[in-house]
Amino acid sequence: MKAHSGEVGVFVRIRPTANFCPDLIECLPDGQTVTVRQRKDCRKPQDTRRDQLICWSFRLEGVLQDVSQEEVYARVCQRVVLGALDGYNGTLMCFGQTGAGKTYTMTGSTESYKQRGVIPRALQEVFREVQKRTGHFFSVHLSYLDIYNETLVDLLSSLQGSARQSPRGMVVTEEPGRGVFIRGLSLHPVHSEEEALNLLFEGGLNQIIGSHALNRNSSRSHSIFTLHIESRSRTPCDAKYVTSKLNLVDLAGSERVGKTGAILALADRRRDHVPFRQTKLTHALKDSLGGNCNTVLVANIYGEAAQIEETLSTLRFASRMKCVRTNPSVNEYSSPEAQIKKLKKEVKMLKEELSIFNTLANRPSSRLSEAQLAEINSQVRKYLDGTLEEISIVSIRQVQAVFSQFKLAVQKREKKEKSLICPTYNSVEKDQSAETAGIKKWGSTDDVEEGSFEASTPSQKNIKRLSSAKTKKSKDKQSQSKRQEEASPVSRNLLESDSKPRTVSLRRLSSLPSSTRPKAEAFEDFKVGPGSKINSILKENKTVLLERRNLLRQISEEVNAVKREIDCFMQQQTGGEKGQYPVTEEPDATSLMELKGLYRQRYQVLREMKAEVNYCQHLVDQCRVRLLSEFENWYEGSFLGSKKELDLTLDKALKRGKDNQRPSELDPSSFHSFCNARCRMLKLRKTRAVSSTPVQRRLPKS
Ligand code: ADP
Ligand code: MG
Repeated sequence: MKAHSGEVGVFVRIRPTANFCPDLIECLPDGQTVTVRQRKDCRKPQDTRRDQLICWSFRLEGVLQDVSQEEVYARVCQRVVLGALDGYNGTLMCFGQTGAGKTYTMTGSTESYKQRGVIPRALQEVFREVQKRTGHFFSVHLSYLDIYNETLVDLLSSLQGSARQSPRGMVVTEEPGRGVFIRGLSLHPVHSEEEALNLLFEGGLNQIIGSHALNRNSSRSHSIFTLHIESRSRTPCDAKYVTSKLNLVDLAGSERVGKTGAILALADRRRDHVPFRQTKLTHALKDSLGGNCNTVLVANIYGEAAQIEETLSTLRFASRMKCVRTNPSVNEYSSPEAQIKKLKKEVKMLKEELSIFNTLANRPSSRLSEAQLAEINSQVRKYLDGTLEEISIVSIRQVQAVFSQFKLAVQKREKKEKSLICPTYNSVEKDQSAETAGIKKWGSTDDVEEGSFEASTPSQKNIKRLSSAKTKKSKDKQSQSKRQEEASPVSRNLLESDSKPRTVSLRRLSSLPSSTRPKAEAFEDFKVGPGSKINSILKENKTVLLERRNLLRQISEEVNAVKREIDCFMQQQTGGEKGQYPVTEEPDATSLMELKGLYRQRYQVLREMKAEVNYCQHLVDQCRVRLLSEFENWYEGSFLGSKKELDLTLDKALKRGKDNQRPSELDPSSFHSFCNARCRMLKLRKTRAVSSTPVQRRLPKS
């Protein structure tokens, strides 16, 4: 028999007998063919051909005559058993007339080891293989079912540990994924051949013994001895496992129960439906007859003339069963637990492998160290600056770190830009208000400093500090973007008039054209450029003013000192009484008169000096206003005018490009470069044009 063949293996076993009839039964030398001869029906006396023989020839997989139990097992059963250990379902079934040797073939003699049947031999084979196949873990369970007159009987239910049979008895059940099974039938784990044989024999004892005329031991029941085998690889990562059922079936005598319709239907290829559920036997063996199962049948026959009818019937059935097609396949499953175990192990292994690989390649493995993060940070900065052409990808973690550094850089930049816009605006506003405040306060405050206006209150000091910062900032040629943002019409407004609104939306501020020159910076340029003359006059005037103010302070102190002397003198004259000035004609009176004269004279000088300081203040104011107004004119002409021109030029160029339908010539980047250069040129031209501004009158130096 071929292993896992596409058809049911059918054998004929002839029971040895002293009354063998070679005239009627002939086994051909090929070992596969048996010929049966039958006389014509003698019950028809009119038939003149009644002495004639009708010959039937049956070619099967093997004809077993005078063959030992050992050979029967080897030829019939061994491959089915081995197949079961590999995960194929297998069924070995003996059928035939009562007393023909079915039980002898299946179970054999319980007294003679040599004459033991295929079941003990199969058990032997199974446990021998279990021992041999050390790479797998096998579990073997046994069940022993008897079907007597459509009643299911568990032949092993009496065993200790067996689940008590349910009151409703056993039921043949079908479940998806589990196939056909007998609900309520006890399954017994066995770990050795001996354990298994114990069960086999115990079941045999429990078997319902029928009283049959031909053989007391023969039964009218079908018995199904089943080995349930499960095999798992001992390799933990192997999640697959296989299961199989090996059914060893000893059918009831065919003359009593006939050949069940379902079994015959299996052989009928024209039938779409096989009525397995017709009988308990066929239902229980639904997934063990044909289909994906290795199926072998042994037709047990007598070799005696008296049984020739039944022999012929058995052989006909065997012949038909030969036509049943099979397609055996392994019952392979995947264990979720084992799958998880396998994947976990695989992940662990891959992690270890990656770790080794990273170590060998000197790459960061798991968490990045502070030094590595610092290095990545530096790389990102260089990349953003343009000093690093590219950042090599080293690992996923490094890529993630690079991204996060980019994010940080972007956030930082955004924050910086925001802070530049807001404080710049505030700074410009305060700067310019400081300038104007200086002008306004000129008349009211006495403190004037070279090149700047000194504030005497804390807030004014603050303004002065901002002003200094602005000057320093404006001289920093690297902060181009900052300057651009500072170039605000607001600042111009603030310079022009303190009464104009000082607030402006950030949107308006940030929407300034990039080419617009920062005003604060432009003002500084103006003071050293086209506005240098008026600025130097302003400075000189401020210096003179400062001198005058110092003089004023000195005279004030002198006046105050004389006043204190007079007060003190008067106090002495009145004997310490405050506020009373006694009139005396003593020599001291002369001193008092002199003091009073001195007081009057210094007071007069003080008044004159105050008038002069006021005048100087007025001139400084005028100079400042002139400086600012000239700057405004210059600034508007140089930058805002050129910007308007630039916009017009851009519009024209764009329109021209559109009209000519040659957009390729209008490269935006190139065009902007050109316009920026032109803007700069216009600015320079305007700067040189504002050279002949009228000069403000200088203050006479004292
Ligand atoms: P069945 O189960 O088909 O009713 P059995 O297997 O019980 O028949 O056989 C009936 C008797 O014949 C038994 O005593 C058995 O020992 C004997 N017998 C059957 N076949 C053989 C055989 N091939 N060799 C020796 N004895 C056999
Ligand atoms: Mg029997």
